[in-house]
Amino acid sequence: MKIVLQHLFYPTVVLASMLLAFAFIQMLPESYFIIVPLLLLTPLLVLFVFLERYMPYDKKWNLNRGDFKTDLLQTFITLPTAIHLGQFLLTLLLIVPNTWMSKTFHNEFLESNYGFIWAFIIVLILSEFCYYWMHRLSHTVPKLWKLHAIHHSSKRVYWANSGRFHFFDALLSSTAYFIPVLLLNVSDELIVMLLVFSGITGFLEHVNIKFKAGYLNYVFNTAELHRWHHSQLEAESNHNYGKALIVWDLLFGTFLWPKERKVEQVGVQGEKDTQGFKNQFLKPFK
Ligand SMILES: [Zn+2]
Repeated sequence: MKIVLQHLFYPTVVLASMLLAFAFIQMLPESYFIIVPLLLLTPLLVLFVFLERYMPYDKKWNLNRGDFKTDLLQTFITLPTAIHLGQFLLTLLLIVPNTWMSKTFHNEFLESNYGFIWAFIIVLILSEFCYYWMHRLSHTVPKLWKLHAIHHSSKRVYWANSGRFHFFDALLSSTAYFIPVLLLNVSDELIVMLLVFSGITGFLEHVNIKFKAGYLNYVFNTAELHRWHHSQLEAESNHNYGKALIVWDLLFGTFLWPKERKVEQVGVQGEKDTQGFKNQFLKPFK
């Protein structure tokens, strides 16, 4: 029973959530769109907490290490505040290119030309590209690493540390993610779908649930891959930078999936070898 659940878990959760989100935005008036991510994420979090107990990847990671309260505050207060502030600041910053784009291309031109699903995929891939490089820079530039190290400081990987970020780290990465969204003048429906998708896959990157995503690990950055990004060993942690997708890691040579072993220790140990990280950052250009 557990084996079947382990294989079905990831595709079922992602597909069912996206279909439900799409149904909600068809049924609800636009002023209610803001609650769609909440409607889906709340029951999912209950499911994740249950499954972390029922089929954990590492039982020790279910023990509170004094980090739970901080993780909750950062996940539910710091991260959403940073995302909203980031969107607001980005709107101001991009006012000139955005006006030019609006005059040159009509609003929602991607959706009207390619259809909703292709528009969603295009925006997602572009947002993931911006996020990938912002994340990779955060592991390379010492000042950015100081902020980002908060996310890596946890000694376990579980559902609540998916939102464990320094405020300015969250502000920078979420701002990077929304650059294509704002420039391309997509619809509110597409923005809600993107928020739901990145929210759910963000939790699924961190959940302490033993699941098998199989070939989906070559498309999505699942917990099977992202745990290696939290490894204490830098040779392992400087991989798998994507948010929801892993395609840019595959393209830029930072994909890591050692199938035959488990992640040993997670967290940050000692000083980071920034030279090593610089070399890693430049790897695709050497
Ligand atoms: Zn990182």
